[in-house]
Amino acid sequence: MDLDAYRRGLDVWLDDHATALAPDPGDGTLAGHMTQLARVKRLGYDAGWMRWGWPERAGGLGGPSIVRAYLGEALMARGLVEPGGYSMTEVLAPTLIDFAPADLAADMVPRLLRGDEIWCQGFSEPGTGSNLAALSCRATPTADGWSVRGQKVWTSYAQFAARCVLLTRTGTPESAHRGITALFVDMDTPGITVRPLLTMHGVEEFCEVFFDDVAVPGERTLGPVGGGWAVAMDLLPYERSTSLWHRGAWLQRRLDDFLATVGEGMVDPAALGEVLQMLLAFRARSRSTQRRLAGGERLGPETSIDKVLLSTLEQAAFDLIGTGLEQALIAGCDLEAQRWRADFLYSRASTIYGGSAEIQRNIIARRLLDLGDDR
Ligand SMILES: Cc1cc2nc3c(=O)[nH]c(=O)nc-3n(C[C@H](O)[C@H](O)[C@H](O)COP(=O)(O)OP(=O)(O)OC[C@H]3O[C@@H](n4cnc5c(N)ncnc54)[C@H](O)[C@@H]3O)c2cc1C
Repeated sequence: MDLDAYRRGLDVWLDDHATALAPDPGDGTLAGHMTQLARVKRLGYDAGWMRWGWPERAGGLGGPSIVRAYLGEALMARGLVEPGGYSMTEVLAPTLIDFAPADLAADMVPRLLRGDEIWCQGFSEPGTGSNLAALSCRATPTADGWSVRGQKVWTSYAQFAARCVLLTRTGTPESAHRGITALFVDMDTPGITVRPLLTMHGVEEFCEVFFDDVAVPGERTLGPVGGGWAVAMDLLPYERSTSLWHRGAWLQRRLDDFLATVGEGMVDPAALGEVLQMLLAFRARSRSTQRRLAGGERLGPETSIDKVLLSTLEQAAFDLIGTGLEQALIAGCDLEAQRWRADFLYSRASTIYGGSAEIQRNIIARRLLDLGDDR
């Protein structure tokens, strides 16, 4: 199935199933979004759309990965799913396929694609965000695997997650990036405690996760022991590719919705022009990333450019919307002010999650422009 055929078929299917796919307008909670996400994925999986673009060995139907970029874009453009929860599939499944034993990937990936499960990413720790190589959550070898002890933080959707891609320290504390091992952990294993944290936009979106002598079977090791850094370096570019394309599509819809609700007269035309230019620049850049990915190229530090463009765009778009919102409320417009405020506040996080803006610029300077030290 090529992209044109996929696009035509998907658009017809989305039109035909609009009622079955529509979200419950009364349930704007995070749990409601997760239920909606599971429903859309299940219907999409059963009809094949969620499976195209994924390898057959992991339960997919094959075909070019670029169709996944279009699927997420179409779902965002129609307001059927939110980008945060949906993005976990694009962030975590490709790395699981790259590093898990083949039978594990074949068993697990379909559960994620079908919406039966949500997974989370256990990288950041209280003392370790940007400086990921200093992580200290420890995995100690046992007779049949590992015993994990330590803490993660900012783990998105951990309270809903069935599995976690977890980075652990298996070498000495001084071993830095050479002493890290990646594990795929069942979140219902005894010894795991999840405590949701309330964000400033009023949602318990991420969590603290505590590991108290948690037993993980040896066959849940992703890649070689001590090779966890390569797993992280594989995953992070995925976090900055297709899921960002989807977020860009969501941003465009929110901007269009805002302008349609309040009217273009409520926003400064020069600022709007600038935001639209940023949107086009991001889409042009991300489009070429999707093409490279579909062509079989391995992504790397150049995806930091996509992340900088997206986060700059997201904050500029919501700065514009924030100013327009103020005007619209004064003028007595009828709009969902609370939801717009929440999206404005969440846009501040876009220069933090997936690696902060400063870290992305360090990567661009050191690894792409050869400026300074690459540590
Ligand atoms: C909404 C959201 C969702 C998240 N979801 C997840 C998740 O699911 N899983 C997960 O593992 N993590 C997640 N994170 C955590 C995220 O990856 C980290 O917050 C991020 O990497 C920054 O780390 P930190 O918070 O420890 O800040 P720090 O690393 O302490 O940084 C603090 C400030 O110092 C700056 N800084 C640090 N080092 C340098 C340097 N060398 N040069 C210049 N400036 C520097 C940073 O840019 C930042 O401004 C999430 C974060 C957010 C906001």
